[in-house]
Amino acid sequence: MRSPRIIVVEDEPAIRRGVVDALRLSGYEVGGAADGVRGLAAASSADTDLVLLDLMLPRKDGLEVLRELRLIRPTVPVIILTARGSEDDRVRGLHMGADDYVVKPFSARELLARVEAVLRRTPSRPPAVYSHARLGHGQIDLERREVTWAVGRRSDLSETECGILAFLLSHRQRAVSRDEILLRVWGIEPIGVETRTIDMHIARLRTKLRDPSGQDTPEAILTVRAHGYMAGPDLCPAEMVH
Ligand code: CA
Repeated sequence: MRSPRIIVVEDEPAIRRGVVDALRLSGYEVGGAADGVRGLAAASSADTDLVLLDLMLPRKDGLEVLRELRLIRPTVPVIILTARGSEDDRVRGLHMGADDYVVKPFSARELLARVEAVLRRTPSRPPAVYSHARLGHGQIDLERREVTWAVGRRSDLSETECGILAFLLSHRQRAVSRDEILLRVWGIEPIGVETRTIDMHIARLRTKLRDPSGQDTPEAILTVRAHGYMAGPDLCPAEMVH
């Protein structure tokens, strides 16, 4: 099993280096970011398991990073690094979905204890694989590759379209990037590949997932700006393969 990957978002070079070194020495994979914009990009990545987030950051404020991160990855654990006395920010951070906080100056030992505790609370589970889904008044059978609507109409799905749907369903808590879809559905490394082909597949899939009765417009696939796609609120898994 790979070791957990932690992103440290901290603009103070000495603190960032100290935290990164302490975590590396403990066997974690660590990446650092010195401002909020880079921090959000690194934290949003699918292979990030935990984020240590300073609040006073250049380019994008830590609370704003947290707010945007929660839209892209609602469940990735976040520990806030806060200055003594900034209790308001700490409380706001916890309200916005941070998992814990550490008050500066902190010892490496204290930080590592918090990191371990938060990682223990959020064990990484393999994503579920679904064979059936519901979409508004429609039933999607991913094995037979068809959508059946309440009005009796049916439409066929391609193998790729079912692959995209299955991938979105098993990661429905977060947005997935076009690169991830290429890698996991097509099985190709997304280096230098034109990702517009994915947008075209998604557009065709959305057309097929339109309720033919015309009375209902279930939201199957959401576009997440500057990131990728996410299962919509009306697309729900119905049956699990394993
Ligand atoms: Ca700072």
